[in-house]
Amino acid sequence: MTTIHYKLLTPGPLTTTDTVKAAMLVDHCTWDDDYKVITTGIIKNLLQLANVSEAAYTAVLMQGSGTFGVESVLTSSVGQADHLLILANGVYGLRMAEIAQHAQLSYDVLEFPYNQVPDAQVVAEFLDSHPEITHLAMVHCETTTGILNDIQAISQVVKNRQLTFIVDAMSSFGGIPIDVTGLNIDFLISSANKCIQGVPGFSFIIAKKEAMLATKGKAISLSLDLYEQWETMSKDGKWRFTSPTHVVIAFEQALQELAKEGGVAARHARYQANMTRLRALFRANGLLAYAPEENQSPIIATFHLPSQEIDFKEMYDFIKAEGYAIYPGKLLDLNTFRVGVIGEIYQADIARVSDIFEAYLADKKIEG
Ligand SMILES: *Cc1c(COP(=O)(O)O)cnc(C)c1O
Repeated sequence: MTTIHYKLLTPGPLTTTDTVKAAMLVDHCTWDDDYKVITTGIIKNLLQLANVSEAAYTAVLMQGSGTFGVESVLTSSVGQADHLLILANGVYGLRMAEIAQHAQLSYDVLEFPYNQVPDAQVVAEFLDSHPEITHLAMVHCETTTGILNDIQAISQVVKNRQLTFIVDAMSSFGGIPIDVTGLNIDFLISSANKCIQGVPGFSFIIAKKEAMLATKGKAISLSLDLYEQWETMSKDGKWRFTSPTHVVIAFEQALQELAKEGGVAARHARYQANMTRLRALFRANGLLAYAPEENQSPIIATFHLPSQEIDFKEMYDFIKAEGYAIYPGKLLDLNTFRVGVIGEIYQADIARVSDIFEAYLADKKIEG
């Protein structure tokens, strides 16, 4: 087997440390106490990272990628008598609508342009004219564009109306401080392979206990039944079905490394510094960011290709040969690409990537 080594400038899977990867070189059985305390410890740790009280909040892990976690929450919490409002300004907001469609939930989607954050005033007016709405779901960092949505402003609107508030914080939790209690979030969903810097294989849900208890008997899926998963796991850390053991052990290691880095605040500072540098260096190369500076997340950025003549695939191969994998754009109408700054990525990587782009553009005779 030949393995090419390069760093991932993608928003998950991302570049992990060698120690996180090494943690997976153990085959662990799942029924014994050693293993169950790992799961229980992870849950405790997640609640601490979310800065929530164990009296009011609880957490559960769910097999699968991040979407499985979102699907689990939506299809376990929105009951037959409920009505869901989804805010969408990108692909991940629209994916929630797809989930609702498949599950035949009663729902509406309020769409906003991809380059704008959902407007709290518009949301408030929509809610006023739709009293049937019981749940509101939105994305925190829209990984489609890299825009950071204002969950604070929307939370105010939600709070006054006593709705169940669901936040897809997949690409932000652990990398951006989130005041889960203050924002009155009922369900927050994230996954192992984003800002905690683990490897892919499970998602996790941090939920108000009250909201979790209210999901009992509502799920339409067997394996994605949030309440049943929580019920079993919260007893002693046992997973209902086969646990992704290697991923779980790697995640435990990743949590320790997050603490060692200085916690969420320190990681946020590193990501923010990476992003500020990336935008500045790319701008100097003539690569303009899609998101306005004030809405730019410190996670991933979309950039316009400087010329219609550039072929993404060719550019991608050039950069990969130099040691980095970038990400295609997700905007159908614009020629763009994305660069993520999360994972084991530091200022030196950002400078190096900028140099690689500069060399590529010089080769193509495109001036910065
Ligand atoms: C990564 C991500 C997801 C989940 O995607 P998967 O491919 O299922 O892991 C959902 N929402 C957002 C905002 C994401 O960044």
